[in-house]
Amino acid sequence: MRQILLKYVIKRLKTNINMIIPVRCFTCGKVIGHLWEEYKKRVETGEEPAKVLDDLGITRYCCRTIFLTHVDLIKEVAQFKV
Ligand SMILES: [Zn+2]
Repeated sequence: MRQILLKYVIKRLKTNINMIIPVRCFTCGKVIGHLWEEYKKRVETGEEPAKVLDDLGITRYCCRTIFLTHVDLIKEVAQFKV
């Protein structure tokens, strides 16, 4: 199960979509936006996401959820005008 999740996370990260993660955690308000690039880079090089999140100081599960489930659709959305 863990390997499947890891493969899924890496596959999603390698898509060429520019990602914009929320600046703050929706639940607790912790500032997390600046950590995204490092998280992405380290997971793509093969590190386990859980370990990277621990190293970055993302310990609460609300914040971790945002990193693990983040899918950014800005490229798809940006082509449409409001
Ligand atoms: Zn949080």
